[in-house]
Amino acid sequence: MEEKISVLYLDDDEMNLHVFKAGFRQYYRIFLAQTVEEAYEVIRNNELQVILADQKMPQMTGVEFFENILNEFPEIIRILITGFTDIHAVIDAINKGKVYHYIKKPWDENEIRVVIDNAGEVYRTRQLLKQRTENLKKVNEELTRFVYSASHELKSPLMTILGILKVAGMDEKKDPTIYFDMIEKSVKNLDVFIKNIVNYYKNARIDEPLADIKYENIVFEIIESYKFYDRVTDVKFIVDVDQNHSFTNDEFRVRVIINNILSNAIKYQQDGVDKLVKISVKTTADESVIIIEDNGIGIAPKHLPNIFKMFFRATHHNTGSGIGLYIVKEAVDRLGGVINVESTEGVGSKFVVKLPNRVQEKVYKPQKV
Ligand code: ADP
Repeated sequence: MEEKISVLYLDDDEMNLHVFKAGFRQYYRIFLAQTVEEAYEVIRNNELQVILADQKMPQMTGVEFFENILNEFPEIIRILITGFTDIHAVIDAINKGKVYHYIKKPWDENEIRVVIDNAGEVYRTRQLLKQRTENLKKVNEELTRFVYSASHELKSPLMTILGILKVAGMDEKKDPTIYFDMIEKSVKNLDVFIKNIVNYYKNARIDEPLADIKYENIVFEIIESYKFYDRVTDVKFIVDVDQNHSFTNDEFRVRVIINNILSNAIKYQQDGVDKLVKISVKTTADESVIIIEDNGIGIAPKHLPNIFKMFFRATHHNTGSGIGLYIVKEAVDRLGGVINVESTEGVGSKFVVKLPNRVQEKVYKPQKV
């Protein structure tokens, strides 16, 4: 059921206020005010959709009141009530107080209801429009940054390869295979970036079906997939998966989350320490808590608030595009979870992800016989 429209009625005549409340309380959430001060108090402390004000009041006219609140509360829909036909008041109401409607006293109950219902609808539509415009702005900004960064990230490894090929072509004496390593590195960068873009696209657009998730398999598969990554050879992994409960959620996104955080834990290691990555998963009937911890380079406090933003990089210590954690955050939000990070420069980082268990929602599929 839709929530009742919240309506404030401002009138210096107490009798009118009572009649209004008695007549409309069953349809709307009604607030009453006999003075302008009382009206302000109500507006400040409640989320109102509609205000009706009497034109003729001792402190100020209804139009003046609307004019006063216009800047601070522009979104509340304003309706003027007057007891006599005053064409100037109506003109002022429209021009100065930007009123939505004008009602003559004595009012007709049906007319008031139609006007308030329509006003509530206008309010809702405007709010929806505002929200959608804000979402569109965000998406548009991200798209612009995406195009800039994508063109750079795609172009630079290609330019590097072209450069290497040119040097190799000019170098008649040396064995050309010495350039293979350099080319391979650039191709790998390109490959990682393309994978990230595909992940991002999939994450943003597609809702995967719910699946029964076995964390142990996922974690070991991901670690295994990094076996050939050059930085992984001297990293020790400590895995502690405690899964006594079934856990159901979107497996694609759970993998994306673990994969991206884990790849950073490997990538941002530091020399001179015994490199360590700890992964722990605890699952209850309500949620899973995934903790991925490393003793790598850490993140400076000033960068911490930005690491989940698209294309943000806190370091040039290693290659990357700054999109990994943005995807993680999007995926966590999409699954209705939360992510927190603690990090100290030169000591390490700890990412804690909590994801809700949707085991109850799993659709029962009859087995084929
Ligand atoms: P990138 O492609 O640069 O790794 P991410 O979005 O995955 O992009 O991460 C954003 C930034 O956060 C990185 O550039 C890095 O500076 C920092 N960061 C992320 N994870 C870690 C970590 N485990 N240790 C240190 N720094 C990290």
